Amino acid sequence: MRHPKKEVQEAVEEIIGDGWFRLEPGGHWGVLLCGHRERDGCRLYVNATPQNPGNHANKLRRQALKCTHRTERGATET
Ligand SMILES: [Zn+2]
Repeated sequence: MRHPKKEVQEAVEEIIGDGWFRLEPGGHWGVLLCGHRERDGCRLYVNATPQNPGNHANKLRRQALKCTHRTERGATET
């Protein structure tokens, strides 16, 4: 599954690159789901035809960084 816009494809690859988010088909192209598997887990909708691919890519990166569930993953580690 490759995004037609290079900027968005790169952002998607970055976001799923660390393994916390995964990409699934959905929405207008795909949706990035965070590792929090409950209903309130993050869902980042990837637009198939963003008016400004660069802005959309940056928005996805920001949304991925805002995930608060990520801290659960090493919570018991010191
Ligand atoms: Zn999350």
